[in-house]
Amino acid sequence: MTTDDTAAIPDFAFTVLATDGSLATDGGPSARATSGGRLGRLTTAHGEIDTPAFMPVGTAATVKAMRPESVAATGAQIVLGNTYHLMLRPGAERVARLGGLRAFMAWPGPVLTDSGGFQVMSLAQLRRMDEDGVTFQSHIDGSRHRLTPERSVEIQHLLGATITMAFDECTPYPATEEQAAASMRLSMRWAERCRAAFVERPGHALFGIVQGGVYPDLRRESVAALTSIGFHGYAIGGLAVGEPHDEMLAMLEHTTPLLPGDRPRYLMGVGRPQDIIAAVLRGVDMFDCVMPTRSGRTAQAFTRRGTVNLRNARHAEDPRPLDEGCSCPCCRGHSRAYLHHLIRAGEILGPMLLTWHNLQYYQDLMRGLRGAIAEGRLAAFAADTLAGYEAGDVEPV
Ligand SMILES: [Zn+2]
Repeated sequence: MTTDDTAAIPDFAFTVLATDGSLATDGGPSARATSGGRLGRLTTAHGEIDTPAFMPVGTAATVKAMRPESVAATGAQIVLGNTYHLMLRPGAERVARLGGLRAFMAWPGPVLTDSGGFQVMSLAQLRRMDEDGVTFQSHIDGSRHRLTPERSVEIQHLLGATITMAFDECTPYPATEEQAAASMRLSMRWAERCRAAFVERPGHALFGIVQGGVYPDLRRESVAALTSIGFHGYAIGGLAVGEPHDEMLAMLEHTTPLLPGDRPRYLMGVGRPQDIIAAVLRGVDMFDCVMPTRSGRTAQAFTRRGTVNLRNARHAEDPRPLDEGCSCPCCRGHSRAYLHHLIRAGEILGPMLLTWHNLQYYQDLMRGLRGAIAEGRLAAFAADTLAGYEAGDVEPV
């Protein structure tokens, strides 16, 4: 690589452009926001990302039922890939030989890969954890594999991830304080090993993951451990794993003010529109969730009037679009009656259109949140959006 090529790749950077909400600052645009929404921009080797951002999940090198250009057309600027799935099939080394995940799946923008830890715990068979890592059997063919902090970081490097996630153990819920402490401290030892294994490249990042269950002191200890190691960004893990909504919000309120104000904050696996709004109000910048894509394959749509099940007979002769306020091809070109028919008939276009719509809804929500922060009306936007969402679907025809 020539010097000019290197110079053309920007450093990984996060800029807070505006904040909205109650906050205390120590001056300047990268000031520590103790609470409140943040409008920001991530600069990476593979493109910029406006935050708050929602990352569609592309588990097996595809955002299911969507072509990459369609994903981009919804406004998504980054997608997520899953280390666990890709290491098993088609294999990280093969993806690397084919130019990395971005070239392989024809997604030119940034990609974030998870570490594999969460899915080893939720999908793999016969897993055995020790201080060094996890040995497990593939849920696909029973073959034996091992993941360690070093191997997880290596796989994510082979995949060409723009943002690499530290390998950790997602503490299950419920867990006693002793269990949560032991699990979190193991993850912190692994975080240090991930930092050492990560190969710095311009525009690429490694995120640490805060654990500690629902115990404020453990969350504080975890943040202290991670910030002393030093990461490009910080994720909040181990939430949205079954704990009550209020408990998740309490943990966010406790944790986000502890994190460095000038680094992106990513709430993993969240979530429903109302969860995202609540988390943005509490200073979170990045989200991912399978909900819009998975729901799209089960006839469930997210709309400005809450969730709608297109399988329901009430839509059978409804000529109206799914969501009057949406400009996606599904809503622009088709009626609820047609979507209902596609789903009842098991036609593949049904899940395709609903997935597109759901991803568009999520990106429109993020765009709305960003605009509201920029204009200092986040609280009103959140209240209006939630009121519409909770009002329920339009009256049947
Ligand atoms: Zn739509």
